[in-house]
Amino acid sequence: MSGLVLPEPILRAVRAHALATAPDECVGLLFGRGDRVTRQVPLTNVSPMPRTRFFADPQGLFRALKDADARGDDLLASYHSHPQGAPLPSVADHAAAWWGAVQLIVTPDAVKGFRLVGCRAEEVRLEVVGD
Ligand SMILES: [Zn+2]
Repeated sequence: MSGLVLPEPILRAVRAHALATAPDECVGLLFGRGDRVTRQVPLTNVSPMPRTRFFADPQGLFRALKDADARGDDLLASYHSHPQGAPLPSVADHAAAWWGAVQLIVTPDAVKGFRLVGCRAEEVRLEVVGD
């Protein structure tokens, strides 16, 4: 998979989630088929340092993954926000890279996708499409 196809309404929902939790970071998952995202699942950030870190509520995370498994959806990406920072993976993000899925980083001005491989971050092309 080289890029991610992101329907506009889902992108809007991700941005709205980031706005709603600011100045704390938000966290959530994007599911779909192939390279096309079809569903966004917001999760609760339970990190003790939510301004600069995210840690998804384990129960919500488990439920979302189990539900996606039942539907036959694939986990395509996780997303979180950098309310104050740059749309680039932090050192902590590298440590927390999940399951080889794309990591989407949302700032007030930008949304970027990365695949984190070891300590390298490869930017992933995001194709935003109308629904
Ligand atoms: Zn981050």
